[in-house]
Amino acid sequence: MPDSALPAPYDEPQPATPLTAQLNADVALPSPGQDAEADFAKQGLLVALDPNDPVPGPGPGGQPYAWNLAPYAAFLSEQTPAPDTANPSLWRNAVLNMNAGLYEVVKDAVYQVRGMDLSNITFMEDPTQQSSDIVVLDPLISEECAKAALDLYLGERGARTIKAVIFSHSHTDHYGGVRGLFAGGTPDADVKIVAPDGFLEHAVSENVYAGNAMSRRATFMYGSLLHKGADQQIDAGLGKTMSSGTTGLLAPTHTVVASVTDEDTQILAGVPCTLAGIQFEFQLTPGTEAPAEMNFYLPDVKSLCMAENATPTLHNLYSLRGAQVRDAKEWSNYLTESATLYGGDATSLFASHFWPRWKSEDGNEIVDFLTSQADLYRFLHDQTLRLANHGRTMHEIAEDLDQQLPQSLAGQWFNRGYYGTTNHDIKAVYQRYLGWFDGNAAHLHGLPPEEVGKRYTDTFGADTIVKAAQTAYGNATTADDYRWVAELLSHVVFADPANIDARKLEADALEQLGYLAESGPWRNFYLAGAAELRNPDASAGNTGALPAPEIITDDVIAAMPQDMVFDYLGIRLNGPDAANNPLTIALTIAGGNAGDPAQCTVQLRNGVLVYTADTSTGADASYTLTRTGLNQLALAKDVQKEVAALVDSKDLTVDSGTIDPLNTLAGLLESFDFWFALTTP
Ligand SMILES: [Zn+2]
Repeated sequence: MPDSALPAPYDEPQPATPLTAQLNADVALPSPGQDAEADFAKQGLLVALDPNDPVPGPGPGGQPYAWNLAPYAAFLSEQTPAPDTANPSLWRNAVLNMNAGLYEVVKDAVYQVRGMDLSNITFMEDPTQQSSDIVVLDPLISEECAKAALDLYLGERGARTIKAVIFSHSHTDHYGGVRGLFAGGTPDADVKIVAPDGFLEHAVSENVYAGNAMSRRATFMYGSLLHKGADQQIDAGLGKTMSSGTTGLLAPTHTVVASVTDEDTQILAGVPCTLAGIQFEFQLTPGTEAPAEMNFYLPDVKSLCMAENATPTLHNLYSLRGAQVRDAKEWSNYLTESATLYGGDATSLFASHFWPRWKSEDGNEIVDFLTSQADLYRFLHDQTLRLANHGRTMHEIAEDLDQQLPQSLAGQWFNRGYYGTTNHDIKAVYQRYLGWFDGNAAHLHGLPPEEVGKRYTDTFGADTIVKAAQTAYGNATTADDYRWVAELLSHVVFADPANIDARKLEADALEQLGYLAESGPWRNFYLAGAAELRNPDASAGNTGALPAPEIITDDVIAAMPQDMVFDYLGIRLNGPDAANNPLTIALTIAGGNAGDPAQCTVQLRNGVLVYTADTSTGADASYTLTRTGLNQLALAKDVQKEVAALVDSKDLTVDSGTIDPLNTLAGLLESFDFWFALTTP
């Protein structure tokens, strides 16, 4: 990649164009005094977080903060009107997400710390207050933030004992900080860790198999490499941003299931149960916002927790960081089920992002909210398929339907696309049913981006294309013109990444699209793309180079079933090279996880790594390897070096044959560079 020939960062963020300023000025907002979301966001505040009191911990660029609201507080408050460089609706959401601190949801029963990470942490008490035992829901991303939130809560509510922790679903922002709740990072043996069926499998698979690619793309989605500022990152559309401290994982001791086969470790969904003396009723919602997720109801205090299934935003049916698409129909069905089972009885509703909502004396706020969101996802699902059945394709449907939500849905502020968008959610529905191919034979085997770029520039001339883009940019009358400029120039940049004029103008166009976006992830993606085009160092964005994050933590790898560890090694295998090196290794895994076979066979054949508990195949060599040693191998960047270290530490011993076959396998395992480019080749 010839990027090294580029000069150092050569262009600063540009102001909003007059067109962008006008389009943003035209965005409607709730009338003052008519903003229910703003009222809910402030209700129940007990202790406000001082933005100048950050949470200590390892931070980006060597800063000593795991969480720091100060850079936001410097430019975002209720007193600051939206600048030209931000969609006023997203700006409003970003301002509402500055409501941070300890909040009461239900007196003497439910408390939340909000604004101390991307997600919320919730503390549930015995409503009679006869016991000081509590249950904690969703302990944030990082241990540092979870501990700070717990301290804030205890400081106000007095000494309490954590008897159970609930993970509502399998995303890191709902379990990563769990060790921060306990002195020394490990709970007492009687503490229950409760999660929905399938939690562990999905928590580890989602973070591991495509973890490097997903995490890199997440830096775009959350704007990790952008400064905080009115023309930069203002919010994530789901909360401010991700905290940067230490993450871990504790395996559930109890799983919520649809049908109990083991009374000691399972909790039946759909019927009342007790944790720490508090009544719960769990509602499993697999295949919604996460593959393993659950809501629950607190009947004693009529409070409904909707996990991340219903928050005041249109959520993602597809996450721009990259993820398997979600099932809009199931999501809608489960929201309807929540409304039916609990909505009529509930007087409050809370979730693990954003603020709660409360039922007023003669209002119907909770059922209305759940029903409206259920219908929102159902509309996107059904109408996408209606148009697909008329022969419309993914991009066409997304454009057609984007502005056609019924006003009864679109007019609800809690349905606005701060996180998901109707546009990319429609594409997710199409993808779920019909996949990437639109049926047009011209798109069946399209050339890859660099090749297309070269042929465009060879045919029309790079200068001609850049000139056309300059004209389109200068004469822009709608945001679509900026989209066209980015499309044109991306061909030039992929043909020749050293074309500074193309890079600069593409960055300008993406930036205006970012300024116009109502969705936090869209804004962040556009602005991060612009920053990449302006900086030859893809790892730098506009904040300077950062160290690559740790994608797979010790806790995650230790929790993985053995077959998944070998799945991951198979993903690291250079298959074409391995095809020339068939081999068979017999392994004894010492100290393995419960349920994993001690004896197994690993084969390289046809360029794939095959793991099996079948030991009947004759092996080239056999080894005994501790499970800890296996974890080290999976985590190591240089696996051959790790093999040698494990021999030294006696975690690996040769039982027959030589170390050579294992060394051959180790030499074929690649490690992944985190800072790959996205907007440039
Ligand atoms: Zn979340």
